[in-house]
Amino acid sequence: MKIDMSGMNVVVTGASRGIGRAIALALGSAGARVAVHYRENEAMALELAGDVGNGSQAFQADLEDMGQCMRLFREVMNSFGRIHVWINNAGIALKSPDTMDGDEWIANWEKTMTVNVTASALFCRLAVAHFKRQGGGRIVNIASRAAFRGDTPEYLAYAASKGAIVSLTRSIARGYGKSGVSAFVVAPGFVRTDMAQEFFDEYGEDFALGDIALPRLTEPHDLAPMVVLLASGLADHATGSTIDINAASYVH
Ligand code: NAP
Repeated sequence: MKIDMSGMNVVVTGASRGIGRAIALALGSAGARVAVHYRENEAMALELAGDVGNGSQAFQADLEDMGQCMRLFREVMNSFGRIHVWINNAGIALKSPDTMDGDEWIANWEKTMTVNVTASALFCRLAVAHFKRQGGGRIVNIASRAAFRGDTPEYLAYAASKGAIVSLTRSIARGYGKSGVSAFVVAPGFVRTDMAQEFFDEYGEDFALGDIALPRLTEPHDLAPMVVLLASGLADHATGSTIDINAASYVH
């Protein structure tokens, strides 16, 4: 079986680096046209859009600002005319130890919820309205193992934000399936990206390796094929489900 996504337009948020970059490249290999979203790494996003091919383009927006999120949606629609799949991948993990000053802790909590939850929920809302008009579409939301297993006390906001993503996605799957909308969660464990680097710097890669069942750490390209499968439409009856990709470190 060959996955053929030619003619399909897919938005990947946070595609300039890490997991989003690998997803965009894999979608391009399957023939999709990708809206490569980024915040500040414009050169990397532009180069990636060229590498993905199929008429892919880069789009900028800071997801801390809901006005910019709405502009992003409009700009992709104006350029592509139609969106078939929206992938909420962009995310932040801000270290917030319980010894932190209260105002700083609250600021980190609010920023995490804004970028990881509110922006993703707004994109889901806009995408669902568009999908209903065009007879269907798919959403893939990148959560985390932390949604189920929890995280360390420094990352309470991160874990809570990913828990919200899971229930958001399940609600969309339940509420809009009859309108042709399917929605999936992908929940990675540690993946070797800039985001995980802070943990590796502090505890070492061997610690993370000891946490998983496989002999090497998960790389972004280990996630991408699953996301392509979900985005392709071949797995629509798995709507509402969460796919764990954590090398058996934790299976729920
Ligand atoms: P990453 O390497 O840190 O890349 C983050 C991406 O998100 C970048 O493209 C960045 O854009 C974008 N971004 C960050 N803040 C943004 C903002 N305010 N507005 C718009 N874009 C923003 O992260 P990653 O490790 O690939 O993570 C991708 C997703 O997987 C996240 O949702 C993360 O929570 C999840 N995840 C990661 C791991 C892991 O171990 N790495 C584990 C579980 C889940 P710029 O490059 O332009 O800044």
